[in-house]
Amino acid sequence: NAVAKSSKGRKKETGLGLTNTKDGNFGEWYSEVVTNGEMIEYYEISGCYILRPWTMAIWEIMQNFFDPEIKKMNIKTCYFPLFVSKTILQKEKDHIEGFAPEVAWVTRSGDSDSEVPIAIRPTSETVMYPYYSKWIRGHRDLPLKLNQGCNVVRWEFSNPTPFIRSREFLWQEGHTAFATKEDADTEVLEILELYRNLYEEYLAVPVVKGKKSELEKFAGGLYTTTVEAFIPNTGRGVQGATSHCLGQNFAKMFEINFEDEKGEKAMVWQNCWGYSTRTIGVMVMVHGDDKGLVLPPKVSAIQVIVIYVPYKDADVKEIINACSATVKTLCDLGIRAEADLRENYSPGWKYSHWEMKGVPLRIEIGPKDLAHNQVRAVRRDNGEKVDIPMADLVDKVKGMLDNIQQSMFDVAKQKRDACIQVTRTWDEFVEVLGQKKLILAPWCDEEEVEKEVKAKTKGEIGAAKTLCSPFDQPELPEGIEHYALHQGNLQRNGRTGDEVI
Ligand code: AMP
Repeated sequence: NAVAKSSKGRKKETGLGLTNTKDGNFGEWYSEVVTNGEMIEYYEISGCYILRPWTMAIWEIMQNFFDPEIKKMNIKTCYFPLFVSKTILQKEKDHIEGFAPEVAWVTRSGDSDSEVPIAIRPTSETVMYPYYSKWIRGHRDLPLKLNQGCNVVRWEFSNPTPFIRSREFLWQEGHTAFATKEDADTEVLEILELYRNLYEEYLAVPVVKGKKSELEKFAGGLYTTTVEAFIPNTGRGVQGATSHCLGQNFAKMFEINFEDEKGEKAMVWQNCWGYSTRTIGVMVMVHGDDKGLVLPPKVSAIQVIVIYVPYKDADVKEIINACSATVKTLCDLGIRAEADLRENYSPGWKYSHWEMKGVPLRIEIGPKDLAHNQVRAVRRDNGEKVDIPMADLVDKVKGMLDNIQQSMFDVAKQKRDACIQVTRTWDEFVEVLGQKKLILAPWCDEEEVEKEVKAKTKGEIGAAKTLCSPFDQPELPEGIEHYALHQGNLQRNGRTGDEVI
């Protein structure tokens, strides 16, 4: 194919390559990476994106880890409707206050205006809890533990960003009710650990586990725990996933009562927790480079791409057969491998294509490799090239994939750790705020103080925002009870947690 093979103006003709660099223009780079990497397609409605198979494969792999884990915890799957009436949505005051600006309403059907507008769920507490009240009667009905995987709509106004902040997104939402606060507390942390696992072991993204401040906690909840990721290029934390203890607030509003063992009336303790497609955006931002996506092997739909390299009058058929045999050997042992045997693209074009899509390992097979009974493997994360004897293929490839997974995490962690600075004084705090860093500073967790810190730091560098009080605290000097993690931030719409770019 003349177009693909011609070196002159190749980029223009094939559309390969990025025009922005990660350090040069991060926002544009991100947008190019997720489209050129065939993860999303922009849609005519702002803030809504088409999730392509390359994305959905990652999402499915995450679900395939998470779903069996929560099944082990005896959490059952359910599905509740997308719509909620105005009266029910407004039942918990703090909750609706938090979500009201982002709720989308259906006000018309066909030609007629609706008598009462119907809301599209921004989250499902108010959709589900009236039925928890109906289903929970006695202590034997507890715990009630349900989870649904679905879409929700939050009509976000500040900069929609694919995956990170979209108006419709996919998530799982777990909603559980217990007889005691202790049981609820235990589950909050069990789920948070699963979220850490998803980020760190699957997406190779380091996170900080911690508790949100009073000001930042979930609207209407008792307390919020979170895993916070960090995007070095913007110097911003991003709320990775949250596990909330709702306490008894919703139980009160929705009258979720039960008769306890002594025959007395009691109120349930509730949790809710969720991770969304944001996870995927965080992974792209953390690992991607100037050649495109870099996917951790554990979540990549294709872990190994095999490409044949024809040379002059070498026997192409023989090389192609060797590629197919290599793929079969790898697949038989559980490695997700595919061969790109398209004839109308040059090997060089294919290299760029699969690099753009972030496939962790490329195997090249040419006449020389055949003669030496070996293949050449090239790592996506660091470009390292290794010749592997055919006899060692599976062991070596498995070893390399494990190594890529681990080293992607290590590199990301190193970068993140280098951007966390412990400060003790106000002056230091203000100085570091403008340096794209996370700041660990002594923290009293009083709402008024947090508002004051925000007000005092408002300006060019953006008001300070508290991400969480990490569970893992640095050494505490005398008189300091604990530290919290903060960042500089341009506050756009008063809501928090989402401003990444
Ligand atoms: P929440 O119910 O607000 O705690 O949301 C649960 C999780 O969903 C958050 O921790 C975020 O990671 C994610 N999330 C919230 N808003 C969005 C959004 N607009 N787009 C994508 N993910 C979101």
